[in-house]
Amino acid sequence: MSDSAIWTRNGITDTRLVRSFAYVNGKWVGGDHTATLPVTNPADGRALGDVASLSADQAHAAVDAAEAAFQMWSLTLPQDRSVLLRRWFDLMIEHREDLARIMVLEQGKPLSEARGEISYAASFVEYYAEEAKRPNIEGVTSHLPDAEVELWLEPVGVAALITPWNFPAAMLTRKAAAAMAAGCTVVAHPSSETPYSALALAELAERAGIPAGVFNVVTGRAATVVEPWTQDARVRVLSFTGSTNIGQLLYRQCAGTVKKLVLELGGHAPVIVFKNADLETAVTESIKAKFATSGQDCLGANRIYVERPVYDAFCRRFVEQTQKLTLGRGMDDPDIGPLMNENAVRKQEEHVSDALTHGATLACGGQRDDLGPLFYQPTVLIDVPDDAAIMRDETFGPVAAIAPFDTEEEVVARANGTEYGLIAYLHCHDPRRIYRMTRALQFGMVAVNRTKVTGAPIPFGGVKQSGLGREGARRGMEEFMEIKYVCRDWA
Ligand code: NAP
Repeated sequence: MSDSAIWTRNGITDTRLVRSFAYVNGKWVGGDHTATLPVTNPADGRALGDVASLSADQAHAAVDAAEAAFQMWSLTLPQDRSVLLRRWFDLMIEHREDLARIMVLEQGKPLSEARGEISYAASFVEYYAEEAKRPNIEGVTSHLPDAEVELWLEPVGVAALITPWNFPAAMLTRKAAAAMAAGCTVVAHPSSETPYSALALAELAERAGIPAGVFNVVTGRAATVVEPWTQDARVRVLSFTGSTNIGQLLYRQCAGTVKKLVLELGGHAPVIVFKNADLETAVTESIKAKFATSGQDCLGANRIYVERPVYDAFCRRFVEQTQKLTLGRGMDDPDIGPLMNENAVRKQEEHVSDALTHGATLACGGQRDDLGPLFYQPTVLIDVPDDAAIMRDETFGPVAAIAPFDTEEEVVARANGTEYGLIAYLHCHDPRRIYRMTRALQFGMVAVNRTKVTGAPIPFGGVKQSGLGREGARRGMEEFMEIKYVCRDWA
């Protein structure tokens, strides 16, 4: 169902990593009468292949397999789970280049970013291979004269994981490694636009010796395969990364079976630059915060507020640096690749034209590029008023919106004036102001004088409609565990 020449031509050496069937209960499921879904390369719109599109019954069968495997996996010694996860990590590192190239072909991101994502994705598997061995019993100083009190942290059961297309490997391992380290088994649905990365990870999980039924990847139409999981009482936790509106839908669908939920949803990050910040650092870091992943990043800077005395200088430098960014096919490793689909490009066009209608000025870019229909030029809008759509809605693309501010109170109110609360970026050198601002910003994460803050040991997540729960760190594993309170009387 996939022409292997496409993959070898693009430098993939181990073509067995390119799987077109779903992976359920240790078997590759597809062919015969199974429907398929096409996958295309966003750089040129050409077909990469077709992957199996499983039915609701097959999605149900994946839960049967995960439920059966849970009986065994949850009782496996943590150190044995750790060894298997570690092998999976080693294989990801060994095949990093192939995994990165598969990702570039289906997702479009620049090759170095894809390599970086594979390392990042693998780091969660390594981290949770270690974390699996940490104590899962906590003692509590007893409040009763004749009893011992303990908290046992136990795996919650089958975990359903639903992941987006912008980080097709890391969003899956951040969930799956935490769940599997905790002793849960997994049914995962990767985005239909980027299923090959998840299937390659399943191939490596199989090679690592992860037992059948522990890690299942169910490709197909999301509504068909995910909805049965939300209704299935055996699925005890659902972890979703994606848009806020689909997160809200899943929240409602899971109510009937009262599942645990982890929701990593949209963001609308503000960047706030005070006049005493190091201007060059603020510009360079803001460029990264805006244009990494071609702007298709939940952590992407959606609005940049600059204190008026340095506003003109900041805008000038920001535009100069934006104009140096290269646009191209991911395999040629530019700064910015194509966007994922036509809807994504339309959103850029809508946000730019809406901002101009509201009085903003276009400083550079502002249109599709001749490279192809999904290439949108890196764009800067300045003097963007607060009532423009881009100052409220997630843009998810390479369009930067900059506006001036005058006072600390004013910028805090503008930054917090959103339903989202994932990350805020602050550039400032006054320690007291940094403290006050960090306290005042209603976001799950605050980055001060830098952009890159993510990593396996930190609890990633947002507040308000950016989500529920955390991923990464010990806390990310505890999302897949339930507390059993044990009160023991020896008498
Ligand atoms: P999306 O449309 O919400 O899709 C995410 C996942 O949900 C995909 O697997 C998709 O499958 C599935 N899905 C779609 N419709 C569904 C339905 N009716 N029922 C069940 N599942 C359904 O989001 P996206 O466009 O892929 O990703 C972009 C969004 O993700 C942005 O809002 C971004 O901010 C957010 N994001 C958040 C984080 C974070 O950690 N907070 C990280 C990355 C991305 P199909 O593709 O097969 O339809």
